[in-house]
Amino acid sequence: MPEPKFRSRDPQLATAKRHRRPTDRRRQDYRSKRRWFRGDDFTYDEATERLVCPAGQRLYRCGHDHITAQGYRATSYRAPKTACLTCELRDRCLQHPESGNPRQVRVFHGRVTETLTSRMKDKIDTPTGRQIYSRRLGIVEPVFGNLRAQKGMNRSTLRGRAKVDTQWKLYCLVHNLQKIARHGRPIR
Ligand code: SF4
Repeated sequence: MPEPKFRSRDPQLATAKRHRRPTDRRRQDYRSKRRWFRGDDFTYDEATERLVCPAGQRLYRCGHDHITAQGYRATSYRAPKTACLTCELRDRCLQHPESGNPRQVRVFHGRVTETLTSRMKDKIDTPTGRQIYSRRLGIVEPVFGNLRAQKGMNRSTLRGRAKVDTQWKLYCLVHNLQKIARHGRPIR
């Protein structure tokens, strides 16, 4: 399975953003000006076991901790509706201030259950895993790109696993025949 965020966890690429072009950085600044308050803008008050928002209001806990589909334990908090309705920071805090809904925040406490994708990520994050996974970019991604862009395989036009499987294999067959036919010829 593709794991597009594997580079963001690679310690060797921790400082890679310093190579960003100025245009990218400008866009980043623009985005950061527009951003809303995130979870780390809220502080946890151990005495009351509540979150405190940038406006100083206490968010109360909603229900018990739950496990997300990705296997993370999370706690949900919600601000009192009356506090958000009159808050001066609501434009910076609520994505839809006109809706009248209060702010909700989820706090994550790390992964507690192992899933197939978490096992895959743990494997990719080893030095050997990184080396093997990076080969995927050179081996299989060009094939997907060719099938999509050159042969028009943007989606299956059939329904049902057997038919989709057959259609996919036909595209792969054509791709392989083309490779065999062009083998040894200079690339133009
Ligand atoms: S909108 Fe609500 S949660 Fe957000 S800062 Fe204001 S009072 Fe706090």
